[in-house]
Amino acid sequence: MSNTKAESLSRELLERVRALPGGQTIDKCIQCGTCSGSCPSSGAMDYGPREVIAALRAGMLDRVLKSNTVWLCASCYSCSVRCPAKIPFTDVMYELKRLGVKHKLCPSRTTNAVMSQAFMEVVNHHGRNAETKLLRKYYLRMNPFQILGQLKLTWRLFARGRLSFIPHTIRGIDSFRQIVAAVEDHDVS
Ligand code: SF4
Ligand code: SF4
Repeated sequence: MSNTKAESLSRELLERVRALPGGQTIDKCIQCGTCSGSCPSSGAMDYGPREVIAALRAGMLDRVLKSNTVWLCASCYSCSVRCPAKIPFTDVMYELKRLGVKHKLCPSRTTNAVMSQAFMEVVNHHGRNAETKLLRKYYLRMNPFQILGQLKLTWRLFARGRLSFIPHTIRGIDSFRQIVAAVEDHDVS
């Protein structure tokens, strides 16, 4: 990715974060590492919370977005609560997820990223979740052969009326889609 594109990602994130309640504090990070030390997922993340802010300042956000980092955030808010600069870091993670999806920079085989995108597609299409369609999308993108391991459970749930193979679409789906489109337009602008 070019430096210009990477820098424009950083600018876009900063704009989004500064517009959040308390988001102006993003510039006050002192790189103390309290967030990374408090984060239950940082050990598994390619870049811990402190490094995310460092990458943002260095214009290297593209590396963060392509890594597993944001998709391992458990939204526990420990970083936000303990940050001495009161940076709402959990919200920064949400904005990073949105940015990664918007610019198609999500890691292609990270479980949470694939599940999140499949879920959004199903809900945007039907107005609600449809488990069988969601799982079909998910496994086809991750590893189609893993579907075989789910067949027994799927059949038992189906036999008890807990699962439907035909997705149900909500009433008023056209209005729902208009709302989603309006939100997405707002998000892009
Ligand atoms: S705890 Fe706050 S100030 Fe310290 S590194 Fe993390 S974001 Fe920066
Ligand atoms: S909200 Fe996310 S980044 Fe912050 S401490 Fe929890 S898991 Fe880590």
